[in-house]
Amino acid sequence: MDGMAWRARPQKPCHIVVQSIEIVGELSSEECGDVCPTEALRFERDHVVAEPERCLACLACMALCGPSRVRIVTDWICPE
Ligand code: SF4
Repeated sequence: MDGMAWRARPQKPCHIVVQSIEIVGELSSEECGDVCPTEALRFERDHVVAEPERCLACLACMALCGPSRVRIVTDWICPE
């Protein structure tokens, strides 16, 4: 297997972390105000509030609001 870097299977599983929630353009509360199960993405007085630390990366907001309008930026944390 020349050129391929294989790692031993980690003792603990990797987990996904949400680095940021990026909003592109306008979101309306009528379209996607109630989509987020954790309120990581929510509307307060018609303003979008995004709290990535509450996000589960379920991607429901991208599905409902449109992937070009909401982007969940994630990374994997893997034990060495
Ligand atoms: S990915 Fe899921 S938990 Fe995260 S902001 Fe979107 S709907 Fe909320």
